[in-house]
Amino acid sequence: MIVPGATTLVPSEFELITRFFSRPVPGDMVGAGDDCALFTVKPGMQLATSTDLLLEGRHFFSGTDPLRLGHKSLAVNLSDLAAVGAKPIACLLGLGLPSIDEHWVSQFAEGFYALADEHGCALVGGDTTRSEQGITLSVTVFGEVLPELAMRRSAAMCGDDIWVSGTLGAADIACRMLAGELPAEAKLLAQTRLALERPTPRVALGRRVAAHAHAAIDVSDGLLQDLGHILQASSLAAEIDEAALPVHEALRGYDPLQVRRAILAGGDVYELCLTAAPAQRDSLERIAIETAVPLTRIGRITAGSGVIVRDASGRIVSDIPRGFDHFRSSGDARL
Ligand code: ADP
Ligand code: MG
Repeated sequence: MIVPGATTLVPSEFELITRFFSRPVPGDMVGAGDDCALFTVKPGMQLATSTDLLLEGRHFFSGTDPLRLGHKSLAVNLSDLAAVGAKPIACLLGLGLPSIDEHWVSQFAEGFYALADEHGCALVGGDTTRSEQGITLSVTVFGEVLPELAMRRSAAMCGDDIWVSGTLGAADIACRMLAGELPAEAKLLAQTRLALERPTPRVALGRRVAAHAHAAIDVSDGLLQDLGHILQASSLAAEIDEAALPVHEALRGYDPLQVRRAILAGGDVYELCLTAAPAQRDSLERIAIETAVPLTRIGRITAGSGVIVRDASGRIVSDIPRGFDHFRSSGDARL
């Protein structure tokens, strides 16, 4: 296709799809090339599906490494499947591109397929179009879960322990350094940047804990805010022990107020926050070892509403930072 005003030949939408997004799918599926993809969910399983939009300048910085962006655009969706305990099956990719940079597209596809292959999540279709402004990425995932095992936000019980996977804070500090809101420190940025740009979706953990946990959520907008969604849906309250929170090791020695903000309110974490009865402690600790993903008990579910954070001496932390809300915030670089 010749773009009006351009002097060079660029690949058409169809060439782009054929070259970069038409890798084979499992034999029992119909992938790209038909009007619909076709795949089967096993009898007795429920289809779990979720979609996430990533916009340049809002969800990722212009110039982000396309290999990492391909990974992340699928990772944030797989993280949603992890949060209900579902096994990934297939995904769709919507791409809006201001221009066709073949190197960029091929790197993006590499990052996307590498993670898709790791999780057996076949790319079965999508849509590709020119965007007037910035890169737009829209990924939809499909997974399956036994209906009785699906973790719901509304299922927390009074007296449950609250657990969080992995560590907290790194993605937020990297993001704020890249946005110029915190002074850039090369070493710290190098240590935290992967958490922001290449998050690990906790799929295996989510599937394993589903039989033991009550409620779960993936932390995308900040621990307190996302835990707040569980509390609201379950009509309960929570107490968090600040000293128990698993802070990313690179943040040791960093400004404590910034660390507090990063771990309580920092987004883009993609760790799981879940609630489970105290009787499940041994099982959850065993699963953490078997999946090689740390699980930390950070507080408990109580009666009432809202979240209380207690500092190391037991005092209630006043003025706790809230998480990120796209419609309340100004500025376009914040994730
Ligand atoms: P339609 O006009 O039926 O929407 P398209 O011409 O948009 O079909 O796409 C042709 C085929 O390529 C479809 O099967 C579609 O799912 C697939 N496809 C388009 N874009 C992508 C993409 N970014 N990744 C994977 N498959 C894609
Ligand atoms: Mg189309």
